[in-house]
Amino acid sequence: MKIVFLDRDGVINAFPGDGKYVTRVKDFHLLSRSQEAIKLLTEAGFAIFVISNQAGVGKGVYSREKLKQITRKFVQEIKASGGRLAGVYYCTHRSTAGCDCRKPEIGNIRKALDSIGKTVRAAKGAFFVGDTKSDIFAGYNAKCKTILVLSGRAQRSEARSWGIKPDFIAKDLLAALPIILGDREPALNRVREHERYLKKNHIRMRTRVRYNTV
Ligand SMILES: [Mg+2]
Ligand SMILES: [Zn+2]
Repeated sequence: MKIVFLDRDGVINAFPGDGKYVTRVKDFHLLSRSQEAIKLLTEAGFAIFVISNQAGVGKGVYSREKLKQITRKFVQEIKASGGRLAGVYYCTHRSTAGCDCRKPEIGNIRKALDSIGKTVRAAKGAFFVGDTKSDIFAGYNAKCKTILVLSGRAQRSEARSWGIKPDFIAKDLLAALPIILGDREPALNRVREHERYLKKNHIRMRTRVRYNTV
């Protein structure tokens, strides 16, 4: 089963800014390169889940209904471009709520997998793509392979001080695609070509890419 988990803000849509939320439909801007990436992942047969913290709801900054409208809009937009999302899971609790679904907790990963009849074990070896420390830690906690994308909050340099480092760093979701798809590339003679691509797209390999497994 090919499964990939994506954070939302800063990964599939433009990062709203530190401490800010996307509170209106018109402020949600799908990144065109990410839209393309989601289409390609869909075509490659991946179940794509969005796992997002939206504490702004719990804080009363925007309503659950607004969040629903925003979700409806991007699910539709992604669909129109040939992509398909298997599910969108939000934690709307405040950070002090002590819930089990706010990343770096993995409650929503568990819920997503449950929706396709899998346990959390299925997260092992799947990719988690995010733009913040809590994404990388959530992915790590679920035993995913983690990819930090630089299209959102975190800078490459910040990640150096994190207790858990991302397995990979990529410019954005589209640049991360060879990492996600690469494991399924059986032809070892394509490794060089693949690595040239990584280099060209400023993808730094933090761990070795295995080309034949998963
Ligand atoms: Mg984010
Ligand atoms: Zn929660």
